Amino acid sequence: MTAPVAVGRVLPTMNEDGSRRWIRPKLSPGKFWVRRRAVAYALMVIFFIIPYLRMNGMPLVLLDLPLRRFTILGSTFFPTDTLLLMLLVLSILIGIFLMTALAGRVWCGWACPQTVYMEFVFRPIERLFEGGRSGSMRFDREHARGQLHPRRLAKYAVYLVLSLFLAHTFLAYFVGIDRLVMWVRRSPVEHPTSFLVMAFTTAAIMVDFTWFREQTCLVACPYGRWQSVLLDRQSLIVAYDGNRGEPRSRGRERVEGAGDCIDCGACVLTCPTGIDIRDGLQMECIHCTQCADACDAIMSRVGKPPGLIRYSSRAALEGERVRRLRPRVVLYPAALSLAFGGFLVALILRTPADITVMRGLGAPFAVEADGRVANQLRIKITNRDPQSHEYAVSLEGVEPGAMIAPQNPIPVGPGRTAIMDVFVMLPAAEFHDGEHRVTVRIADGAGYTDAVTYRLVGPEHPDAAGPPHESKKEPRS
Ligand code: SF4
Ligand code: SF4
Repeated sequence: MTAPVAVGRVLPTMNEDGSRRWIRPKLSPGKFWVRRRAVAYALMVIFFIIPYLRMNGMPLVLLDLPLRRFTILGSTFFPTDTLLLMLLVLSILIGIFLMTALAGRVWCGWACPQTVYMEFVFRPIERLFEGGRSGSMRFDREHARGQLHPRRLAKYAVYLVLSLFLAHTFLAYFVGIDRLVMWVRRSPVEHPTSFLVMAFTTAAIMVDFTWFREQTCLVACPYGRWQSVLLDRQSLIVAYDGNRGEPRSRGRERVEGAGDCIDCGACVLTCPTGIDIRDGLQMECIHCTQCADACDAIMSRVGKPPGLIRYSSRAALEGERVRRLRPRVVLYPAALSLAFGGFLVALILRTPADITVMRGLGAPFAVEADGRVANQLRIKITNRDPQSHEYAVSLEGVEPGAMIAPQNPIPVGPGRTAIMDVFVMLPAAEFHDGEHRVTVRIADGAGYTDAVTYRLVGPEHPDAAGPPHESKKEPRS
């Protein structure tokens, strides 16, 4: 028998008059909750220690947005690594699709930071200060009358300290732990922008876990909205077995032939998004398994086998053949192998430096007093290596001319970019049809060399080079 579907409900967190319906879920510490807690604590430890870890002399993860440099597992990616970044993002997206097709919203219930910190940090503190669901509901009523209980105030104070800690840890991923420590030690007056960023992040975390809560999953997170296309009938979901549970009936009202559901409501009371899983698969369900834990406890009390609410699939629950192999389970891994394989190949083939040769600012060339033609080159060198290097530039194909570089070689720190200005002087006669090709060779003295062919421009007709020092328009693009 299929479970009845709720009608007329817009959001579980909204009362009919449009006001906020606060969800105060009752804890169900069953077998899934114990496992989820272990996973959550492990993830928290990983999150806290990553900013302190280094690999190849670089931070393990550093997402430097202002400089547009992303260091992941000791490798730094720059905006010029478009292909690499595109393949990495594509791999992550396909990986999410695959994970959802196989295991449903396992990310939401077990690993999403919103769930992990809400259910295993903020909610336990709330229960400690307010005395569980009934205590919180009492404080809610007082709050509605304009009274703020001192215990709730104390909870907010602890939340603020936690939000500060989480905000600092979060920002360490974007600015690096060294800069973060420097910010913390110095007066906010000395670095007002970073202080404001920190204050804003702390406020956002505080508001999210104190007030917005489950609404992040219900109305803000796009992943929840994708579920209708990411899940199929064979995907693993947390589901109520209507065949076994219906018709539900409670206590003394129980009738002959009634299902196993005793309509106790424990699965609803424990749900952190406030839904009734017996209404079927819903977008609001984050697959946290709290209802499964609650129901298993009830089943054990009434002497029935556990699993009335369990991990299953819509196909399995409706008696259809369970098909492990289906198009999306084949196509997603194939696409993932291509995207991630391409990423790995591009990563392996990536050079330890990124060289871009550009034309100098201003006129494309100038004719000097001695009749020679001068080109200005700007050579942008990005050092991807974890070590500092001195990059020396030489030119091939400038004889009988000369190359002048105010600073050659030029030192470039790890992950840094430097620009070297180079002037190339060539007799006008060396230009044919207004151009002369040279090879720009760059070497770091530690085994890396690269060569870039560059087109110098000059007068199209050398005999009519014009008066000395006169800058010419580039003859053609
Ligand atoms: S219905 Fe169950 S699995 Fe879904 S969010 Fe609620 S408690 Fe978690
Ligand atoms: S906890 Fe189990 S028995 Fe109780 S209402 Fe939910 S599904 Fe029915």
